[in-house]
Amino acid sequence: MTEHTWSDLTSAQRDTLVTIARLERDDIPATNQRLTELVDDSRALKDLLGTAITTEQDTYTLTNSGHALLRQHQARLTSILGHPNSDATVAVPFCPQCHAPITLLSPRDNTSVRATPCGCHLEIDTERDPLYETLTDALALAHNRDARTHLRQALQLTIARGEQ
Ligand SMILES: [Zn+2]
Repeated sequence: MTEHTWSDLTSAQRDTLVTIARLERDDIPATNQRLTELVDDSRALKDLLGTAITTEQDTYTLTNSGHALLRQHQARLTSILGHPNSDATVAVPFCPQCHAPITLLSPRDNTSVRATPCGCHLEIDTERDPLYETLTDALALAHNRDARTHLRQALQLTIARGEQ
């Protein structure tokens, strides 16, 4: 069983995830029969089972990684439809600990940063990731707003990569 990314998913798999999320929101059990009526693709269910979704007593629910897929997609859409170069809406990856979209990283010390808005403290393995140090140095030197935005995005990608 491998982890999925949103871009790997077929449209039936995407529909399945969104449909289960909608049923969860409405407190309606996502049974096999209901999903067959709504999505009509049992292959998608089978493919997602064990990674993005789980089942118990004929009710399907999203796993943490299923929720993360939807949040990643949501954040990606928000970053495209929002204002990509404003400091508040930096297009970003996701907190490796809680999977929430990260809008800002504040260095705490040389080896950790605080993610906003979730508040998780992320450790940076600078030994393994000298890129982090280089980017932090570059950020300290950059004054152009666009350059800072892009450097911050690069830092966030570095962190997301480092924690995988
Ligand atoms: Zn977090």
